[in-house]
Amino acid sequence: MPNSWPRAIVHIDGDCFFVACEVAKNPKLKGRPVVVGADRGIACAMSYEAKALGVTRGMPVGWIRKICPSTIILPEDPASYTLYSRRMYEIVRRYTPEVEEYSIDECFADITGMHRVLHKPYIEIAKEIQQTLKSELGLDFSVGLSVNKVLAKIASKKRKPNGFTVIDWPSIGDYLKTTSIQNLWGVGGQTARQLYKLGIKTASDFATTAGTEIAKNFSKPYQEIWHELQGKFIFLLNTKSQPNKTSISKTKTFGTTSSDQHFVYSALSANIEGACSKLRKSKLLTDKVSIFLKTQQFEYYHLDFVLPWPTANPKDILDICHQRFAEVFSKDKKYRATGVTLSGLKPANTETLNLFGEAIRKENNKIIYHHIDLLDHRFGANTIFLASSLSALKYQKIKDEGSSSKIFSLNKKRHLGLLSLGKVT
Ligand SMILES: [Mg+2]
Repeated sequence: MPNSWPRAIVHIDGDCFFVACEVAKNPKLKGRPVVVGADRGIACAMSYEAKALGVTRGMPVGWIRKICPSTIILPEDPASYTLYSRRMYEIVRRYTPEVEEYSIDECFADITGMHRVLHKPYIEIAKEIQQTLKSELGLDFSVGLSVNKVLAKIASKKRKPNGFTVIDWPSIGDYLKTTSIQNLWGVGGQTARQLYKLGIKTASDFATTAGTEIAKNFSKPYQEIWHELQGKFIFLLNTKSQPNKTSISKTKTFGTTSSDQHFVYSALSANIEGACSKLRKSKLLTDKVSIFLKTQQFEYYHLDFVLPWPTANPKDILDICHQRFAEVFSKDKKYRATGVTLSGLKPANTETLNLFGEAIRKENNKIIYHHIDLLDHRFGANTIFLASSLSALKYQKIKDEGSSSKIFSLNKKRHLGLLSLGKVT
């Protein structure tokens, strides 16, 4: 049996980060129900006090004003959130150079060996990081300390807000018993449902499945998670500094208003493709999507959803938009614009994992989009696009000057799987 700390990995996660930044800027907001999202017309983040009043993510601002009139609703301030984020990374780097900037409010730190340098046990170092973040930034962070990234992430989720949880080598088994499978890093709702069907309901059920079964039935990323749950150190930290964007948006106003569902959806599809292209350029992934339709009367209809895994593939987003488009579209209205905002941005190399062949499909898609991006770079934007964007891009005058505009199919059964090859001028 190895000692308690073969490696010492800390996961640090900001509690209600955007709202906490607002409260840190203006302490009078402390203890009040605060919502961020006035500029988008929906709640993007809220304080625990606002949550207690029933405010949920994606709730329209007009509705919040009606049901919780005491709520303070603020616009997003991405510049200051980025600043707080940078300061968080800087503070953590005082304790170790091995810091992975995982997202705007999360990082991993490898403090292995630092107990000798700093002359204190790992638990004290991790606690001191949390206290320094609190005293210098005025923000609460939940901190988990364990022997690898998967277990450190489980630890930081155990108690919130301002939680501190240690999972050393001997206590791994006990913690996994109380961790439901959907709280395991990399397991989205869809995968959790598949695992439930196999009788795997907790992280412990997964970890205690025989290695031979795991190797036979699960894709490589899941095999790696399984090894981390045994206490091994598999997932390295990416210690390169990451671009600190909070969201990527793409909006387009139509030349004339339209009540044609096919056209409006197509315009949305083109925006999603454009936003995903920006994501890939920045080497980022998203898992939070907000789309809107704007009517002739300047009313906004929003649809917000969380993706089962982070992606930069427009098809993953369009699959959900396609299913839920009727929630925002009404054929009695005329629309003048559509838009999309992608948030929850993460570096592309920390892609969450998926099960049952999904990893292979995603690998193939990555290769396809790598080549699409190369072609776009060579011949201009929208050289190749999804067939679902065709109507909108045709509207922008697809002219191929006599050359053949080819439409070919990646997956004949799926409308969204079609790609159109054409030159937009
Ligand atoms: Mg957080």
